[in-house]
Amino acid sequence: MKRLRSTLDRIDSKGYGAYKDLSGSHDFGSFTLFVDRVQRDPFAPPSLIRVRTRENAFDRDLFANQVRRVAFEDFLTRSVEREIRRVVRGNRGSGGSGRVEIQRASQVVLPRTSMVVESGYVEARMAVGLPARGRSVDARAARTVLLEELPEVVRKGLVPAPEGSVDAESSRLHVETVEDADHLRGLLPGLDLVAFVADGAVLPRESGASDRLLEEGAVPFQSPQEYRVEVELPNRGVVSGMGVPEGVTLVAGGGFHGKSTLLSALSWGVYDHVPGDGRELVVARGDAVKVRAEDGRSVSGVDISAMIGDLPGGRTTEDFSTPNASGSTSQAANIAEALEVGTSLLLVDEDTSATNFMIRDERMRELVRREPISPFIDLVRPLHRSLGVSTVVVVGGVGDYLDVADRVILLEDYAPSDATARSREVTRRFPPRAALTDRDVRLPQERTIRASSVDLRRGKRQSARGRGLHTIELGRERVDLSYLEQLAEAGQTEAVARVIGEWAATGEVRGVGELVREALASASEKGLDSLGGFRGHPGEMSLPRAQDLAAAINRIRPLRSGPRM
Ligand code: ADP
Ligand code: MG
Repeated sequence: MKRLRSTLDRIDSKGYGAYKDLSGSHDFGSFTLFVDRVQRDPFAPPSLIRVRTRENAFDRDLFANQVRRVAFEDFLTRSVEREIRRVVRGNRGSGGSGRVEIQRASQVVLPRTSMVVESGYVEARMAVGLPARGRSVDARAARTVLLEELPEVVRKGLVPAPEGSVDAESSRLHVETVEDADHLRGLLPGLDLVAFVADGAVLPRESGASDRLLEEGAVPFQSPQEYRVEVELPNRGVVSGMGVPEGVTLVAGGGFHGKSTLLSALSWGVYDHVPGDGRELVVARGDAVKVRAEDGRSVSGVDISAMIGDLPGGRTTEDFSTPNASGSTSQAANIAEALEVGTSLLLVDEDTSATNFMIRDERMRELVRREPISPFIDLVRPLHRSLGVSTVVVVGGVGDYLDVADRVILLEDYAPSDATARSREVTRRFPPRAALTDRDVRLPQERTIRASSVDLRRGKRQSARGRGLHTIELGRERVDLSYLEQLAEAGQTEAVARVIGEWAATGEVRGVGELVREALASASEKGLDSLGGFRGHPGEMSLPRAQDLAAAINRIRPLRSGPRM
């Protein structure tokens, strides 16, 4: 601390570059500050620091196994973020002067690089805008940030009460909530379920732009008795809710009655949520994929022949490529790619699907003979029968789906009921007009993709990085991830970018599934820090799912797929 103070005195009012002298470690007594990277000027991305406490005085139960450890690290990241907001004044000069930040966590709990809990210490990775007046060092402001605000953030956000302010009760609640959700997800296959929605869960969100729970006027979830299941969780004990069985489940109901909200909650059920989210005990199979139409996306060598036959000009669809997919071909590619990397549950919302992909009625069958698309309605049963892939499909307008559903859940005023028997009656009175085709479906052939198709050069440098939640920058290319509805936070995007960057640098030809699985296995074995060459502060990353990692790779426009393996 003394060295830090004297260095600051010495470099006061010098050119901003003098901050370089802060690099290295500084002993603060109760913690060590590591200055890993010093920014070049006050307007550049902030400097990267780590603080490591001298000891870890937290209850060992909070990080006794991997699930608990991830949950507790998530808790501490949020705890530090809250204290930064309380303690740090920010804005102490030009550019980002005086700003202190930690990775922003979404509503879901993920392994992140922002926090490390070890038995002997706790380490937070942060960013600091080193203060400047104009472009010269402002040592007085730097002293306030580094010697007053930062130690207070550490004490309040990273040290258990009574010495610090981290509350034992809320730590425990956080860890136990996550452990219960994780356990619940693990129970699903054994119960032949693909998803579970606990009674009392609050599904609607504050707004289309916010993932926080709707506080006012939300109707809590109440399971229909026909689907009520009781499960026993390690912390909460016995919990009841709606079990969604394997097979084909239709969610029907009038407009604005909560169908998409339910489906969206299921799609986020692949992750664990923080206490207070409302969806703590809403879980789905971890490999569930929400698929939608995405016209304009590029597709590289994907086998969509199960859904779409030969195209105009005799183009086959076993090896389908286009820089500009239509609504239906994009949705077919999204499904084929999900099957290629592996999924046991598809979530489809009529709202975001291509009509001609979902259905074709009798008149159109009669009028249009040369239709390459086999609509999804013909595919959902074979998907389950042949491949064991279940579907939950939200339908408001297309009653033909009643013929293929194993069950129908009807939403009225946000309340679900079982409408399976009534739907059978309806189908008797209004029999299907077009015969359903009964066929088999096989998995799409797995592609290999060529690293040489990705050029990381950008001027003199190589770049593979995330830009917010929905964009990856690879050299001069931008990959648009706007339609990956299950990407939760920018840290995942960054991790995805690094995986792609590492692969691109190898020049290898790999199977998509193989590449994705190996990257995630290595991240879980060596830690997320290992992605992209760890030297000190690893940057801000969160663990992505295999499905989303593959989806991002599949959206690289210049991607070329190689011969099949
Ligand atoms: P649908 O897909 O059936 O047209 P949505 O799921 O889009 O309906 O929901 C319509 C509106 O109702 C949204 O604003 C949503 O936030 C709200 N909503 C959904 N479920 C609930 C609920 N359980 N309680 C209160 N509002 C809800
Ligand atoms: Mg809807």
